[in-house]
Amino acid sequence: MKISIVGAGYVGLVTGGCLAELGHQVMCIDSDAAKVATLNAAGLPIYEPGLQELMARNRAEGRIHFTTDMAQAVEHGEVIFIAVGTPSKEDGSADLQHVLAVATQIGRHLKKFKVIVNKSTVPVGTAYRVQKCLQDELNKRGIQESLFEVISNPEFLKEGAAIKDFMHPDRIVIGLDASPNYNTVHQKMELLYSSFNRHHARTIWMDVRSAELTKYAANAMLATRISFMNEIANLADLMGADVDSVRRGIGADARIGHGFLYAGTGYGGSCFPKDTRALIQTALDCGSQMKVVTAVENVNDHQKTLLVNRLIQNFGEDLSGLKFAIWGMAFKPNTDDMRDAPSIAIVQTLLDAGAIVHAHDPEGMEEAAKILPDVVMADSAYSAAQDAYAVALVTEWDAYRALDLKKLHAAMAGDVLVDLRNIYRPEEAQAAGFNYVSVGR
Ligand code: NAD
Repeated sequence: MKISIVGAGYVGLVTGGCLAELGHQVMCIDSDAAKVATLNAAGLPIYEPGLQELMARNRAEGRIHFTTDMAQAVEHGEVIFIAVGTPSKEDGSADLQHVLAVATQIGRHLKKFKVIVNKSTVPVGTAYRVQKCLQDELNKRGIQESLFEVISNPEFLKEGAAIKDFMHPDRIVIGLDASPNYNTVHQKMELLYSSFNRHHARTIWMDVRSAELTKYAANAMLATRISFMNEIANLADLMGADVDSVRRGIGADARIGHGFLYAGTGYGGSCFPKDTRALIQTALDCGSQMKVVTAVENVNDHQKTLLVNRLIQNFGEDLSGLKFAIWGMAFKPNTDDMRDAPSIAIVQTLLDAGAIVHAHDPEGMEEAAKILPDVVMADSAYSAAQDAYAVALVTEWDAYRALDLKKLHAAMAGDVLVDLRNIYRPEEAQAAGFNYVSVGR
């Protein structure tokens, strides 16, 4: 099929690359000309494992193209995905300006029937607003005919494992309302995703509003598990229990399962913080309250102060002239994405207290340097830690899992190792001479 994807970011590029891999003819359009130039020069504007190879293969086969030209993209795709950003507004609600601007731009160029698929994470009712923008543009051009159907197909991929998630989805949620176009649209979407439904049906069909809400409910549920475990970990610390044992003990219960039960720095990233905030705001807008999700957010905010509090216990409130090392800046391993990364709040608090911060991240340092220009980026985990008073492991990249703790200890000026991901065994770190701090152990 011919597919167009508006927004060549983490979701748009993975969706485009994977659909091209399945044999579809894909055109990705982005308003950022520099991004499109990079893509057209065989580069990638983001880091995602496997994406470079996937793109190279499909570029070579002529199945994927990149443009800034909306007219060309609208002409090309019989199905047009919207995959632009929906960041938080100041009040926490989702900022829909990019989604609605894209709808207006598509409307300007529509000449024949297209399925408009909203893949961005958007509050309930957005499909209707997209539809209105499209229709307004058609009306301006004097076109009364129904030239589109707006449907919802939220994305559940995880950065760092995005290609695997897209190619092996647990489920594909499609929200499609009753309309004269229902059968045509249903058939097109069945065809588009047919390779995923061969073994057993993975597509869950529902109405548009339910699909929009499903995405927020999924992220809020995952965020809830994280905050819940962080509270259990903090209690374990106070009571002398080990949160890792508790995690295994509850995860073995089939009703609970093992996923998303790790205590740590609190969630960050491009989705959970903004999506929980938006869900809370959506409820307020309709006179209701998301009490659980509000608590989840409060616990998460508190968790981010944990590291700094532990350091203050050791060094006092004035950290002037003391060097600290941070391992892992991206919000999770295997991405360069710094949006809402827990490292930002942690580093900023250290800098505000006068500390000198050196950091290392296998892929995220370029992005991190844009946000935290006062941090010295080091070329290895060891060089970041050289002469440091404390090291904090913030993001659990594989590169930090088996470091030589004795060598590390010898290179440092101090002996504090704050392991916010519970990677090392306390006995091992203590044997290497560290004053070792982890979460809930
Ligand atoms: P992103 O910021 O990486 O990419 C968005 C792209 O859209 C950017 O390249 C931007 O230049 C482009 N864009 C903005 N306005 C445009 C316009 N008018 N015309 C053309 N291009 C335009 O964002 P992302 O992380 O890919 O997220 C996109 C959406 O998917 C968001 O709603 C997000 O919540 C959702 N989502 C993200 C993830 C994730 O892991 N990143 C997972 C699931 C869902």
